[in-house]
Amino acid sequence: MNVHESEKVAGILEEMGYRACLEGEKADIIVFNTCCIRDTAERRALGNIGVVKAEKKENPNLIIAVIGCMPQQEGVAETLKNRYPYVDIVLGTRNIAMLKDEIEKVLKSRSNIKKKSDKKYRCFDRSLPDNYLDIDEATPQSRTSYPNAWVNIIYGCNNFCTYCIVPYVRARELSREMSSVLDEVKKCVEDGYKEITLLGQNVNSYGNDIVDDSVNFANLLKKVDEIEGDFRVRFMTSHPKDLSDEVISVMANSRHICHNLHLPVQAGSNKVLRDMNRRYTREHYLELIAKLRKAMPDIGITTDIMVGFPTETEEDFEETMDLVREVRYSNAFTFIYSPRKGTPAAKMEQIPYAVKQARIEKLIALQNSITKEISNDYIGGVYRVLCEDMAGKHNGMVCGRTESGRLVTFPGENEDIGKFFDIEITEARSASLFCKKKV
Ligand code: SAH
Ligand code: SF4
Repeated sequence: MNVHESEKVAGILEEMGYRACLEGEKADIIVFNTCCIRDTAERRALGNIGVVKAEKKENPNLIIAVIGCMPQQEGVAETLKNRYPYVDIVLGTRNIAMLKDEIEKVLKSRSNIKKKSDKKYRCFDRSLPDNYLDIDEATPQSRTSYPNAWVNIIYGCNNFCTYCIVPYVRARELSREMSSVLDEVKKCVEDGYKEITLLGQNVNSYGNDIVDDSVNFANLLKKVDEIEGDFRVRFMTSHPKDLSDEVISVMANSRHICHNLHLPVQAGSNKVLRDMNRRYTREHYLELIAKLRKAMPDIGITTDIMVGFPTETEEDFEETMDLVREVRYSNAFTFIYSPRKGTPAAKMEQIPYAVKQARIEKLIALQNSITKEISNDYIGGVYRVLCEDMAGKHNGMVCGRTESGRLVTFPGENEDIGKFFDIEITEARSASLFCKKKV
């Protein structure tokens, strides 16, 4: 979501005549797009904002903007104003499109330098209606992830999981019109994008805020699948409480939708799931996994898991470990619970950090061993892979993903990016698969 929103920022700046800096060039404007999902993300953002102080001193004309989730939290805009007075612009998640106006205002005010207390920051105003959003269909976007195109389908979140800051900083759900989403996907395919990723905090809620019942996620997927062209579709994120049989069936019978699903479980204990306000049980989740595998035996399933939620006991944690053994995810994003100010879980009695650390280490070791076993099963098979990028440190190699979402490194060159190849897997190293020679 942050990458997608940064592409909107780049689009706005390019329309104003700015361009991305080349290596070694000094910027005229620096925009920090922040995240506050965990304390580490927030501290990293503040650290980075601190670093540019020297640059601002050297070049007083530099414009510094801080946008995104972080300033949307209560009191953070004030903190920025007091502790980082050299920051010129602060905007929240739902008023990114104001960036152009704010930059123009700063440029105008430079002729009569204002006292810092005169500075006005615009952050999402809680008194505005929940569905207020200034990113409209006309906000430009400069895509940076070819051959993948991010397409947002729904903003915000209504779920209020007790650990999560997202509903407070991104406000309530607001779905885009289905016709706008379809037009954008068609345009991306026409422009040569080979992978479309539909985005939302909970894509399965798509259309719940639109009166017309036919506007729902399953129907959106069906319509996207009807678009002609050689391209793939992925989507994230799905909430297990809202993943319908209909969506599973559309995925299984589609031409373009990858057999790949990110289905965050968070925890394996029903007590912890209840305390997290996830509104599904371990049994329901396992039933979904069984349905998915029955409909698509080749599906790659990934997840998010959190350890150290305040009410998690050693037994609860073992239930998470058991669930991981049972589901056998191809990959998992694992997190240590981080208390977020203003959320219900932050007010509960917390678990010592050392306990959380020990649990995550056990969980990562387990998942790594499962990932390695699953990777070994790929050896000798031939898979269709979309070449996405050069493979960094491996000379003469490129990388891409199988339909199931596994990363493959294989011989290739820059021109291969954006093309599909049938690749025989010859080697597996943990999460990465390798091929010595293209088929
Ligand atoms: N909307 C998505 C998740 C977005 S946040 C969903 O519901 O699945 C991505 C992941 O960050 C979550 O799945 C969760 O595992 C993790 N996360 C969210 N809040 C967190 C917190 N306070 N501490 C640690 N991890 C957190
Ligand atoms: Fe956060 Fe839960 Fe919403 Fe995901 S569904 S963004 S975890 S509140």
